[in-house]
Amino acid sequence: MTEVLLLHLRCADEIVLCYSECPWGTPKNTTISCSLADVMSEQLAKELQLEEENSAFPEVVSVVEGSLISGDNIDTSSDLMLAQMLQMEFDREYDAQLRREEKKFNGDSKVSISFENYRKVHPFEDSDSSEDEVDWQDTRHDPYRADKPTTTPKRGFIGKGKDITTKHDEVVCGRKNTARMENFAPEFQVGDGIGMDLKLSNHVFNALKQHAYSEERRSARLHEKKEHSTAEKAVDPKTRLLLYKMVNSGMLETITGCISTGKESVVFHAYGGSLGEEAKSVPSECAIKVFKTTLNEFKNRDKYIKDDYRFKDRFSKLNPRKIIRMWAEKEMHNLTRMQKAGIPCPEVVTLKKHILVMSFIGQDQVPAPKLKEVKLNSEDMKKAYYQVLHMMQQLYKECSLVHADLSEYNMLWHGGQVWLIDVSQSVEPTHPHGLEFLFRDCRNVSQFFQKGGVSEALSERDLFNAISGLNFTADNEVDFLAEIEALEKINEDHVQNRGKKVSLYSSDEESPPAFCNK
Ligand code: ATP
Ligand code: MN
Repeated sequence: MTEVLLLHLRCADEIVLCYSECPWGTPKNTTISCSLADVMSEQLAKELQLEEENSAFPEVVSVVEGSLISGDNIDTSSDLMLAQMLQMEFDREYDAQLRREEKKFNGDSKVSISFENYRKVHPFEDSDSSEDEVDWQDTRHDPYRADKPTTTPKRGFIGKGKDITTKHDEVVCGRKNTARMENFAPEFQVGDGIGMDLKLSNHVFNALKQHAYSEERRSARLHEKKEHSTAEKAVDPKTRLLLYKMVNSGMLETITGCISTGKESVVFHAYGGSLGEEAKSVPSECAIKVFKTTLNEFKNRDKYIKDDYRFKDRFSKLNPRKIIRMWAEKEMHNLTRMQKAGIPCPEVVTLKKHILVMSFIGQDQVPAPKLKEVKLNSEDMKKAYYQVLHMMQQLYKECSLVHADLSEYNMLWHGGQVWLIDVSQSVEPTHPHGLEFLFRDCRNVSQFFQKGGVSEALSERDLFNAISGLNFTADNEVDFLAEIEALEKINEDHVQNRGKKVSLYSSDEESPPAFCNK
């Protein structure tokens, strides 16, 4: 908080003025009837609207346009965002304090008093609650399923003087219920029942009301999800806050711009700062991979993680947002293993939620070209091939990993050698589909180098055997894949029978791939 404020003091005087009066004391101008957060979110909404209408935001923020986020130079147009961030931080801190006080107040008492109503951040706005209830968790249980048991609705007044019409009278009540449907959200289609003499029983009315309410919440959530998602063009406010914090802490000096918006991430370039005296130094140039918080991409890709025994136990318990963080975590662990084995790859600097900071492969803000893009002469092409062959072997044997998305798109050419990137989906060879992924990698690599004129390049099947140490003999792809799948099956049964628990983090403790020749 103090850090953000300090940064603020340096950079945005107007907001500081506003804030010195607001969160730290009672505002002088008491005519404002709603909270600052409300005002600002309205402004943000308008701004977003404008932005969308003009679609003036560039597809990819050019690296040369100047820094996006820097310690010394903050674009004043982001004051609003800064203010929001500040408010968000303040609200969170306030709530944390409230929780502490609530705990202290209640102590061990069996009857406790909730301070919930005094919270600043409404539970639905809080990232750790509302954002977590998304997508497939919702669809696992039918959201429209009626949870309440079907009971006969209570009849109004029964007993002496039965003919007195009370407000509980079925007919009166039914008509009233029908009329009250008008109060449902405008999007909720109630049909033309309102115009008819329709008597809606309390039970039906309540079920409808419940449905209308959950529909309303669902659409609000969809809207919110859209706003909160890390879209193609920019990052959501929470991601920006995390990025600001990195700059504030001095770890990064400047975030200069976006270098790629890929399938699963947005990658930024940054100049490194320092992590403090004792800590290891931050590379002079960094790449920041922000994993996209839109979930669609990840739904298709969860096979890479849910069958990975390292993450299996956790996967089933997690919500989608946390799974996305796990992707970032997975990339970090895989890169660390590769680094240990001496494979040329980005060096991990830090991981914060869904943001992975690593060393930048390239120079002066220009990322190294992909093998796909670079035109190598035949000598370099051959050199690159042998490097890739060696790296694949190291990856398999020493890191116990299969890249699982290896191709000329995920290999960079820098300083006369090949660098491997994009390993969030990499799995251990014992993964139920690990060998199939390896075969696919081999196919991409073989095809690329064969087309590139490297006569020594092994065929995909020979490459597969060379990497895995297996000796499959099928002379066509279909049979070869069948052999692979059969072995995967045997291995999976074996693993299941063993029920072995293996550690997630330390590659030293993990055993090398458990495959043997048939
Ligand atoms: P894609 O869908 O394009 O494969 P992705 O979401 O899988 O993207 P990456 O492949 O890891 O993400 O990164 C996307 C691009 O960003 C890379 O092709 C590369 O150009 C650039 N990039 C990523 N990491 C680095 C790095 N450490 N140094 C330099 N450039 C990088
Ligand atoms: Mn990639």
